Amino acid sequence: MRLYRPGFLAGFLYPEALFRIKTTAKVLYLTFDDGPDPVSSPKLLDILGKFHVGATFFCNGSEAEKYPDLMNEIRKRGYLIGNHGYDHRDGWKTNPMDYINDVNRASQFTSDKMFRPPYGRLSMKQKKLLRSFKIVLWDIIAYDFDKAFGSRRSLGKLKNKIRPGSIIVLHDTALSCANEILDEFIVFALGKGYRFDMIPDFY
Ligand SMILES: [Zn+2]
Repeated sequence: MRLYRPGFLAGFLYPEALFRIKTTAKVLYLTFDDGPDPVSSPKLLDILGKFHVGATFFCNGSEAEKYPDLMNEIRKRGYLIGNHGYDHRDGWKTNPMDYINDVNRASQFTSDKMFRPPYGRLSMKQKKLLRSFKIVLWDIIAYDFDKAFGSRRSLGKLKNKIRPGSIIVLHDTALSCANEILDEFIVFALGKGYRFDMIPDFY
C-alpha cells in the first residue's frame, strides 16, 4: 500500500516537524530532494523559471559537493536550499553521532538551518541533537521516484491531494518523472488559483 500523506502517527512522533504550512491561503510549497543532478536540475529550473514559481531544494551533500555549478545556479535563481544529509543515511539504521556528523558534513555544501531527513526517518535522539535545524517533512508524496507507479498516476495524485499550505515532495534525480509532470501540474494548480512559494523562515 502506498501512502500519499503522512499518517496521524507522524505528527505525534515529530510534533515540531513541519508537514504543512498552517494557512487558508491557496499556496503550495514545492520541494525537490536528492539533487542536484546534471540531467534533472536544469530541466526543473527551466520549468520553475518559465512560471516564476518558488521551490526549495533539499540537496544531498555528496551531490552538492560534486556539482557546485548546479548549486550556484539554483542559488543564483533565488531558490532556497535545504540539507538532506551527505550520504542519504537512514536515521533508523544509523547511530546518532554518525547521523549528526553526516548532516553537519552536508551543511557546508547545502544548509545549516533547514533539514529534511532521508526517508523521513529520524530517531528522538537524532531529532534532539538537530534542534538547531528546522525539520521539514511533507504533506504530499507522489511516488515520482517509482517507475512502477508511473508518471500519469504521480500527476493525478498531485492534482487530487493539494490543499492550502501543502508541502509537496518531488525528486531532483535522473530517475524521477518530476521533470515530465511538473509543467502540467503547475498549470493545473495555477488554474485552480494556487500560487507557489518557498518554505518560509517562520511558521
Ligand atoms: Zn532523499
